[in-house]
Amino acid sequence: MTLDSNIFNIGDYSSDGNIVNNVVDSSNYGEVFLVGAGPGDPELLTIRALRLLQSADVVVYDALVSEDVMALVHEGTEQIYVGKTRANHTLPQDEINTLLIKLALQGCNVVRLKGGDPFIFGRGGEEIETLAAWGIPFQVVPGISAANGVSSYAGIPLTHRDYAQSVLYTTGHLKDGTVNLDWAALTRPHQTVVIYMGLGGLAEICNNMIAHGQSPDLPAAVVQQGTTKNQKVVIGTLATLSNLVIAAQLKSPCLIIVGEVVKLREKLAWFEPKDISAVADKLESRDLNLPTNSDTETYILNTIGY
Ligand code: SAH
Repeated sequence: MTLDSNIFNIGDYSSDGNIVNNVVDSSNYGEVFLVGAGPGDPELLTIRALRLLQSADVVVYDALVSEDVMALVHEGTEQIYVGKTRANHTLPQDEINTLLIKLALQGCNVVRLKGGDPFIFGRGGEEIETLAAWGIPFQVVPGISAANGVSSYAGIPLTHRDYAQSVLYTTGHLKDGTVNLDWAALTRPHQTVVIYMGLGGLAEICNNMIAHGQSPDLPAAVVQQGTTKNQKVVIGTLATLSNLVIAAQLKSPCLIIVGEVVKLREKLAWFEPKDISAVADKLESRDLNLPTNSDTETYILNTIGY
């Protein structure tokens, strides 16, 4: 598939604000697959995600997608990076939406690859809303979100009958320099709190949780680049975590986990960051026999020994 060279001139709008569209026959539209890449370890991709990475015409990806996952994209497939550049500039969301539409109008089958799960703090909804408005066919392929993948590789079960009966996912993103979260909800007992995008606001988050009645001794963890060879885990309490993280010089992306379950890591830590395919390595290596859509069922039956 050869891309129209004009594709990179994003944002050709007509006077009524619509994108200029030369391809009008909707039967020629390509399809957009909004695909979750998981938290980093390529072995955590779904079979469906891997199959799409091997068959798409174009892969549009951003900074959270690990290099190891990108290495699985079929050789020769067009790859378009829309994450932060060295100048720290991210392609604005509406330009990404426009790019996806233009590619689909050209008849390309596009994988829009996002870190973790596209529907968890991934703006996946916004991207497919625009596609839906244009009548462009799309599918969503879920991925393992950071909360699930990173906590597993850090040896921290998010629920445990003795410690936590519920889990709350929240963003810790700073808005106007302050972290404006629902502190009453975040400080309920017998609950694990998972905070995405919270590294910059960590001190403020911990202080607010204490101010809203949580014990300063409540265990808390920050996991850097979980599931990858760069995984680092810092364990502390609400009172100590922020200084420990500064001392450890952690880098993004980092996930914060707060709750009694954090202390289980002492017994349950299993992942050695160098050991990237810890599970698969111990299994006998076989040729990867990826299914096509039509024979997925046969493949699964064969795999489980029927
Ligand atoms: N859609 C993604 C989240 C996007 S928001 C998902 O489902 O995982 C980006 C935030 O996710 C980061 O700031 C960080 O808090 C978290 N994150 C994603 N990958 C991570 C990883 N490998 N290790 C630690 N945190 C991660």
